[in-house]
Formats: sequence, C-alpha cells, structure tokens
Amino acid sequence: MELRANIPSGPLEKKWERHRFEMKLVNPANKRKYTVIVVGSGLAGGGGAASMAELGYKVKCFCYQDSPRRPHSIAAQGGINAAKNYHNDGDSVFRLFYDTVKGGDFRSREANVYRLAEVSGNIIDQCVAQGVPFAREYGGMLDNRSFGGAQVSRTFYARGQTGQQLLLGAYQALERQIGLGSVEMFSRHEMQELIVVDGRARGIVVRDMVTGEVETHLADAVCLATGGYGNVFYLATYAKGCNGTAIWRAYKKGAAFANPCFTQIHPTCIPVTGEYQSKLTLMSESLRNDGRIWVPKAKGDKRAPGEIPEAERDYYLERMYPSFGNLAPRDISSRAAKRVCDEGRGVGPTGLGVYLDFEDAIKRLGRDKIEEKYGNLFEMYERITDENPYRVPMRIYPATHYTMGGLWVDYDLMSTIPGLFVLGEANFSDHGANRLGASALMQGLADGYFIIPYTIGNYLAREKFQPVPGDHPQVRAAEKALTERTKRLLSIQGKRTPTSFHRELGKIMWEHCGMARDRKGLEQGLAMIPKLREEFWKNLRVPGSGEELNQSLEHAGRVADFLELGELMCLDALERDESCGSHFRTEHQTSEGEAERNDKDFCHVAAWEFQGDGKKPLRNVEPLVYENVELAVRSYK
Ligand SMILES: Cc1cc2nc3c(=O)[nH]c(=O)nc-3n(C[C@H](O)[C@H](O)[C@H](O)COP(=O)(O)OP(=O)(O)OC[C@H]3O[C@@H](n4cnc5c(N)ncnc54)[C@H](O)[C@@H]3O)c2cc1C
Repeated sequence: MELRANIPSGPLEKKWERHRFEMKLVNPANKRKYTVIVVGSGLAGGGGAASMAELGYKVKCFCYQDSPRRPHSIAAQGGINAAKNYHNDGDSVFRLFYDTVKGGDFRSREANVYRLAEVSGNIIDQCVAQGVPFAREYGGMLDNRSFGGAQVSRTFYARGQTGQQLLLGAYQALERQIGLGSVEMFSRHEMQELIVVDGRARGIVVRDMVTGEVETHLADAVCLATGGYGNVFYLATYAKGCNGTAIWRAYKKGAAFANPCFTQIHPTCIPVTGEYQSKLTLMSESLRNDGRIWVPKAKGDKRAPGEIPEAERDYYLERMYPSFGNLAPRDISSRAAKRVCDEGRGVGPTGLGVYLDFEDAIKRLGRDKIEEKYGNLFEMYERITDENPYRVPMRIYPATHYTMGGLWVDYDLMSTIPGLFVLGEANFSDHGANRLGASALMQGLADGYFIIPYTIGNYLAREKFQPVPGDHPQVRAAEKALTERTKRLLSIQGKRTPTSFHRELGKIMWEHCGMARDRKGLEQGLAMIPKLREEFWKNLRVPGSGEELNQSLEHAGRVADFLELGELMCLDALERDESCGSHFRTEHQTSEGEAERNDKDFCHVAAWEFQGDGKKPLRNVEPLVYENVELAVRSYK
C-alpha cells in the first residue's frame, strides 16, 4: 500500500492557501449533481454536512442517535482552542502549531497541524456568527482560559458545556439545510458496511435500528465522521454508544488504520467505584486552571484531606513540572497520578485517586467566582459522588478519554480508499501520540467547516462517476454481509451477554494496553483477546430478533468489532518499540520516568492494512518529516 500524504509543496504557512488555489473546482451549477454521504452528525459530521449542503451538494447524513442533536460531541466540557491572542500573552498561529506538535510528542504531520492552527481563528468567528454563547469578560470581549500543555490562554469556552453550545450551532446549520431539502437526515440508522466499487467508496449499507430493515445508499463520495473508539476499554468517559464499527468495517474494505494504539488517558475523571459500573465521568481539564492536585506525602495516610497539614501534602505536579504545574499535559499528568498511587499514596477507598483541591482558589477568588466558572461541573461531581467539592477536594483518577489513532488520511482528509474521507476523531488526526486539551473540538470543526468543503470538490471535480446499479455485485455483497452477520449474532444463543464480553475485553485492554505497556503484557493481551473472541462467537446470547429495536443486537455487533480492533491496538503497541506521548512502554523511559522516544526507528505513522480475517495485518509506514520544528526532548519542567 502506498501512503501518499499529498502535502503541498512550498513554505509551511503558504501550503494551505496554495493548495486551495491549485484545487479543481466544481461549478456551482454542477454541485447539485453530486451526492455525498456523511456518516455522523457530531461537530465534524454535522458541521461538514451543513457546509457541503450550503455549497450546493446533495447530502445524506446518518447517525445512530434519535436526533442529530445528540452525538457525543455534546458532552465536551472545557473549551476549544484558537490562536486569536486576545489576551496578548504571546500566542500566535505558529505557537499553537508548535504546542500541538510538541504536545503530540512529535508524531503528527507538520503541514496538517499548521493548517489546523491557521483555521482555528475562523472557527471562533463562525461559531460567534452562529450565536454560540462563548463566555465573555466584563467588557464584552470573548474570554479565554488555559488548558494543559500551553503557557498562554487560548481556550474559548461556554462554562462547562462548550461541546453542547458548539453543537447547537452546527445542529442549527444542519437543520437549516434539512429544512431546505439539501440534507436528507437519517437518524437511528447504523452504518455497517462500506460499498467500494472499482476501488472507490460509492455508498454504505445501514440498518434501520427501529425496524431492522437493511437499506443501501449510493453516492459519489462518503465521509465518515463517526467519532473515537475509546469504548474498547469498556470503562471510559465516552457516551455509551460510541463505537468503532464504521471505521472498522472501512478498514476491512481497504482503509488503512493509523496508530491504533495511541489512546488518551485523561488525568481528571471520577475514580472507578465498583465492578458493575458502566461508564466513567470526566472532570474537565479546565478545573486544573484553579484546582491544585495533591496526595499525602506519607504512604497509606488515611486521614481526611482537611486533617492533612500543608507541609504533609505533595503537590506533585507543581513539584515535578514547575513551569506548567497543574497544567502539565494529559499523558504526563496521568502517568504522574498512576506513579503516586502505585507508591501507595493514592486516596479514597480504593487508593486509586488523587485530590483536585479548590480550597486556595475559593479563598483567593471567592466561591461565587468558582461557581460561575465551573458550577455545572461541581454539581455533576456532587450528584455522582455525594461529596461537596466546595468543601472537600474532588477525588480524581485517569481514565480512557480519546483516541488519537483512527483511519489514515492524506492532507485532503481522504483515506487510502479513494472517495472515502474521514473527519474528526475518527481519523488519525493531528494530535500525534497525545492530544492537548481543547483541541478535539478545534479539529472536528476545522475538518467539518473549513477543510472538507474544499477538498471534497477537488476530488469530485477530478473524477468521472458512472451511476452504480443497485444490483451491482459489490452492493449485493455488502448487503449480504450485513444480513448474515445479524443472523449469526442472533443464532448463537449462548449464555453470556454482549456487556459481559465487553467488560472482560475492557479489563484486558486496560491491564495490558493501558497507561503503561510492556512487551510481556502486550503479548499476553494478544493471546487473551483471540480466546475471548472465540468464546464470544460460541457463547453470546442476544435475545429478540433483528426486525425490531434491539439494543442487545446493536451492542453485540459493536463488541464483535472491538474484539478485533483491541487486538490490532495491542499489536500496534507491541511493534512500536519506543515510548511517545500516551504510548508508554515501560522498557523505554528516562531515569525520571518520562517517555523516551526513538526517533531513529519510529518517527513515523504506522498504518495497518487488513489482509483478511485470521491473517496478520500489514504494517505500512509514513515517515514524518520535520522541517519547521526541531525534534526536541519534550519537557514541561
Ligand atoms: C466528557 C468529554 C469531554 C470532552 N471535552 C472536550 C473539550 O472540552 N474540548 C475538546 O476539544 N474536546 C473534548 N472532548 C473530545 C471531543 O468531545 C470529541 O473528540 C469530539 O466531540 C468528537 O467529535 P466527532 O464529531 O468526531 O464525533 P462524535 O461527536 O462522537 O460524533 C459521532 C457521530 O457519528 C455517528 N455514528 C458513529 N458510528 C455510526 C454508525 N456506524 N452509523 C451511523 N452513525 C454513526 C454518531 O451517531 C454521531 O452522530 C471531550 C470528550 C469527552 C468524552
């Protein structure tokens, strides 16, 4: 497989402008002759579908929720980055670019990241024009706060519900186009197969989740904006429905899967409390603007936090990373939390927790100010834990939160299957081996509002499209694959629920491919997952039928894919024999316990190519070339 990133030539800051000029255009009158399928109505998909419809393309948009108003994007709390430099604190497009490349531990593509930083300001303008109610300062200017891995304040926010407000903007733009008839919306439809004809993506096969009917939709291009696959860990901060099915099925049709092992573990989540817990809850990184993280200095100190005097507390992030303190990036903060807990200094009933304490901030700013900034997050914490964070420190612990890996895309966001574009968290994106906070919303909206509307035209204008007949062998084969899979899942009639398999897989992933990884553990994981998968196909029980709303059936299909994807993640983690960002191989660490990269052998994207069921996938490599930043040792000290 040839991985052609198609990065435009010329100086970094001119690449996107030049590329846009060199692109082929579709005549406005011809745009309505093209149909584009967009799977996903989150910030990436909803924004992309609305923008392409606005341009004149015929768009069909799909989501599995009951409304495009409910994708996981709505859960995003803390904010969205943009290099506006409103605070005049030294920000610039180049600084946002640099911070993002460094934050990703030099495992992302320079040109893509620069473009992301470049369009970040447009995103804010677009959202403000849509009426997104970003927080404002007293004088009426948009306010900013700081997020991890940056020493400037560039994060725009709407209290602790930035994702919801941004999504309302995208959703309204989408609804407008639905009202105008330019977007046909299919809620509660799950894409299960990609149709590839003559090597190009030409449609999808979906299951109507209410009636069970199988439908085929054909188009000239397909965009997947289906979000991240972090629920492979079972316990995660994702919405329960998030899954990897769409990208996994595309992978099996020839789309390369890049860096599957790059998973973000977020340092500030409410700790696990019991065996039967079904998900985890994020406490936004924005809280680290004012909250201070600490554990007792002594091992096994079981005193209540208020009884532990200042001198006996270890504000370990401030101690270890004085320049960034509590705003050290996520991978680094997560590992530091794990380390102090492994030393026996963790807090709470399980010992797997650290304090996030607002006592100082409340003293300094007053309770009202803290409530104004983070009130809904404090309320959420109290509802879940029954502890009042205005009085006692929050208890937090790292949890799975985001996937930097995803389908490989070129500069135009096109996968290795021509005509298949991938946007938002579903692509391997711009975040390298670790994503900085507030940059997922930025990337999703950049892809949807500002990149795909251009690059889709460049593809459509260059190709000739013959209509695909509904009975084309590839269409029939995709429909058959969906129907047979459903039948197979329903026919096993074993004893275990999809959830029980999912939970077991999650434990394997967390233990063997989680915050710290090593060869032995990964090899064990690689031996355990196929066994679990074998049992799944022998002992799964899915009640009900395929001709009705059947959530157990939906879950079973997603778990079946996770059972394959989890294995690829372990394989990728095993073969990337270095530490970088979130991928921490314990064999490769500095004397201070920091990730030790191996640029000589691993300064590349690993893009896996499906070779057939039961066969080892092929590891292809896209070398990463840094012409504008120096490959430095990442330090936040
Ligand atoms: C709790 C939480 C807080 C966060 N806070 C922030 C933050 O403050 N700032 C930040 O930058 N990032 C944040 N993130 C990350 C960010 O929210 C996500 O990365 C981003 O919203 C993903 O957007 P997306 O459009 O790519 O996917 P999603 O919003 O996940 O949308 C996926 C869409 O695809 C559809 N879909 C998926 N599979 C199928 C299928 N097979 N068939 C049909 N439809 C399908 C879904 O229905 C949905 O419409 C947060 C994440 C979490 C979990």
